[in-house]
Amino acid sequence: MVAKTKSKKTSSKKRKPSVGFFAFTGCEGCQFTVLFIDEILDLLNKVNVNYFHLIKEKNRNIKFDLAFIEGAITSKREIKKLKAIRDKSKFVVALGACACHGGIPAMRNFLKDEELGKYVYTQHMLKDSIEATGIDQYITVDYHMRGCPISKDEFIDFFQNFLKGKIIEQFKGPVCLQCPKRGKDCYLAKKEVCLGAMAHGGCNAICIQKNIPCVLCRGPTKSSNFAAEVNLFKSWGLDDDEIKTKLTKFKNLDLGTKQNVKQQTPKKKK
Ligand code: SF4
Ligand code: SF4
Ligand code: SF4
Repeated sequence: MVAKTKSKKTSSKKRKPSVGFFAFTGCEGCQFTVLFIDEILDLLNKVNVNYFHLIKEKNRNIKFDLAFIEGAITSKREIKKLKAIRDKSKFVVALGACACHGGIPAMRNFLKDEELGKYVYTQHMLKDSIEATGIDQYITVDYHMRGCPISKDEFIDFFQNFLKGKIIEQFKGPVCLQCPKRGKDCYLAKKEVCLGAMAHGGCNAICIQKNIPCVLCRGPTKSSNFAAEVNLFKSWGLDDDEIKTKLTKFKNLDLGTKQNVKQQTPKKKK
């Protein structure tokens, strides 16, 4: 992870910073990633963990210097809770793909309500349900910790610097910039789908290092050229459904160049 930091006063007092871990709709995998960090006890001992529902029986819903928020926002009730957390928190981190841009739960945006009602939601849940999005649709997010799940190294780097009053700089540019297969070994050169050119880098192209093409879990960069990728995949013979499945896995489709994608792929179901 990038070691560069920019100075930003976070907490200059001697008291331990108040920290909270909150979860909305997700699999809790990012919170578990935090818990599985070898030195997690040392890290958390430097702060007051006042809220961490996953591991604590008694939680204090007070003011927070730092709030980690995992999960997508998928209901009206969650919006209210999210805003209340923001009001109490000086610095908010979107923890993982679901919180950053909707992630896996946002696949629901591409399903019909009848299908959701049949397989997943009760009628009561459907009533409260809204299009799944990242948390920054409703509140200001101070740092996006991307990935599904997040990277342990990024968490440690972020946390240690935060305690020193610094915020690490996020990697700028797509996964391709860190990719070991860049050039003639690129998956695209072999007509294999890899979405690294559109994905936020900073993961050290970890999947490609393990010989797995990028599936865009860190979400698309603002400059992602969805239309060009869709055209490329079509030229290889992939049909609309295959392309749509690949691009909607992490709710990426409607985050790209909306207009271009709309022209290239089937419409979202209502
Ligand atoms: S980003 Fe992935 S690992 Fe994290 S909560 Fe969402 S689905 Fe789970
Ligand atoms: S990330 Fe994927 S598309 Fe980018 S250079 Fe590597 S293999 Fe090619
Ligand atoms: S290579 Fe792609 S899928 Fe893998 S962690 Fe990075 S962004 Fe996510």
